[in-house]
Amino acid sequence: MDTAVKVKKTSAAPPVNFIKKVGIIGAGQMGNGIAHVVALAGYNVVLNDQKKEAIDKALGTIERNMTRQVGRGLITESDMKAGLKRIGFATSFADLGDADLVVEAATEDESVKRKIFVELCPHLKKDAMLASNTSSISITRLGASTDRPERFIGMHFMNPVPVMQLVELIRGIATEDETFSHTRQFVESLGKTIAVSEDFPAFIVNRILLPMINEAVYTLYEGVGGVEAIDKAMRLGANHPMGPLELADFIGLDTCLSVMQVLYEGLADTKYRPCPLLVKYVEAGWLGRKTQRGFYDYRGEAPVPTR
Ligand code: NAD
Repeated sequence: MDTAVKVKKTSAAPPVNFIKKVGIIGAGQMGNGIAHVVALAGYNVVLNDQKKEAIDKALGTIERNMTRQVGRGLITESDMKAGLKRIGFATSFADLGDADLVVEAATEDESVKRKIFVELCPHLKKDAMLASNTSSISITRLGASTDRPERFIGMHFMNPVPVMQLVELIRGIATEDETFSHTRQFVESLGKTIAVSEDFPAFIVNRILLPMINEAVYTLYEGVGGVEAIDKAMRLGANHPMGPLELADFIGLDTCLSVMQVLYEGLADTKYRPCPLLVKYVEAGWLGRKTQRGFYDYRGEAPVPTR
């Protein structure tokens, strides 16, 4: 069995035969990326969101991103056509009834996710597997809100999904070996590499990444540096491809705050206290790129720092 830090390299394996149809719940930035890679890997996809506009936006984003991949020679025109044809959508959970796997990628809020599972489960086939793309919430607890904790697993994709190599797999206490091995084969068939994490708040990547982002917001809050200085310092001084505040805007400040709250409450350690300035941005509805404003304002031609 893998240890928490062992990483296995994969090349894209062929589609697995025990999964034909994949349901995806939540058509936001993660849901559209997951639909994109799953469809290109040869699976039929049904994309669900509570808002039809979110589905329409996601379908447009997927087409634009695939077109960009064709332009870069990463996929062919016919891969794109076939991939797009495999993506359908549904506004009701009843339409996910014949899915072999459902990946939940809705808003990072435990009550939202639990409600989805309670409403979804009665529609599912008995042996369908369920996965959550949560960034931080206990897989054991989410699994317990379903009728199939043994067929429930954490499948944590990174943003942007078509570009990022890693997927964390997180077993809840009840997750069966078969669920783990099937989801592992599925993720490898997407051409992704797996890191296995134990089920503790925020798993591996976000346990390390989010406290750094939160510290960057404290650095801004305390006036140690402005937005541009902080991002430049970490890009050029630590060789990070993006500064921490740019990255926070990219992830979504609501998601960043939720992850910090899960760390703070789950580990009961004041070092995870969310920065009050992060709270203020979220309360203002300045959630980053997805709302056009966060630590930068994206409404003009070039991003402008908001502090
Ligand atoms: P997002 O805000 O872009 O999208 C969330 C979507 O969920 C929205 O379209 C919303 O309408 C939909 N939704 C909310 N409640 C729903 C319901 N009851 N039924 C159906 N759809 C519903 O958020 P995102 O960034 O795509 O994040 C989604 C999940 O992925 C979260 O759990 C987040 O923690 C995780 N995640 C995010 C990132 C990131 O960088 N943003 C990375 C890895 C994982």
